[in-house]
Amino acid sequence: MNELLIGCHVSLNAPDFYLGTVKEALSYGATTFMFYTGAPQNSYRRDIKEMKIDEGRELLKANGIDESKIVIHAPYIVNLANDTDKNKHENAKEFILNELIRCQAFNVKTMVLHPGAHVNLGVERGLNNIIKSLDDIFDNLPNENKVNIALETMAGKGSELGTSFEQIAFMIKNSKHQDRLGVCLDTCHISDAGYDIFDENKIIEEFDKIIGLDKLLVIHVNDSKNPRGAHKDRHENIGYGEIGYDALSKFVFDERLRNIPKILETPYVNGKPPYKTEIDMFKNNKFEKDWKNQFI
Ligand code: ZN
Ligand code: FE
Ligand code: FE
Repeated sequence: MNELLIGCHVSLNAPDFYLGTVKEALSYGATTFMFYTGAPQNSYRRDIKEMKIDEGRELLKANGIDESKIVIHAPYIVNLANDTDKNKHENAKEFILNELIRCQAFNVKTMVLHPGAHVNLGVERGLNNIIKSLDDIFDNLPNENKVNIALETMAGKGSELGTSFEQIAFMIKNSKHQDRLGVCLDTCHISDAGYDIFDENKIIEEFDKIIGLDKLLVIHVNDSKNPRGAHKDRHENIGYGEIGYDALSKFVFDERLRNIPKILETPYVNGKPPYKTEIDMFKNNKFEKDWKNQFI
């Protein structure tokens, strides 16, 4: 039986960069992880040569971490869905293209992307803009680049797209590069979008029917501060939100999802990362009531 593939988002900071990222993940007992190549809320990126990638990869290897399951998250300010400002839209595409090249430099195979928000263009035009943008990006990517994009299921805040399996399937099926597109399922987001998170089996069956389970590349395991259908996208710590440990653990332990990396994006508690405790609970499959008390 292989190990549970569970981790969290970790930072990439000076001076140790990727080496520090890997060390941080290991300190939580993570068996996989996700990171941003720079600040998630902006598109400023440092030179990849500074990032101690070889040292980080050595440490991964020494610890038996499966590199093919590690995930990069694109910054969430980049919007491919709205092309009202042509200049801004071209810059967004160029940024995503360069981000895919950075992923390859880390030898990371999957990049999670928020599909975008149509703002005022309407759902259909927004979705078509995303499809066309992704086509352009993959068309212009060097041939040796094999990085895939996992479109994240979104909560439906504002005019966000990717709020249903149908929308995600529409983007994938109309892409020229279907083989390069997959999905990141976020438990907080789908609950906020209106799915009944307590019926995990139904969600997975529906996902399989509409998108295909082979397309599921990443799972974001987050509790939600808000009830079903709230469209808020506010993550909560495991067991402290409207979803709860039991519902989340069904996603973590579903045999059909065994080989898919599960990533926590839960908030810090009193300024401290909660991930060692949250990961441990899943590893032991036991919820520790009032676990936050140890962070006070
Ligand atoms: Zn995300
Ligand atoms: Fe997420
Ligand atoms: Fe979120």
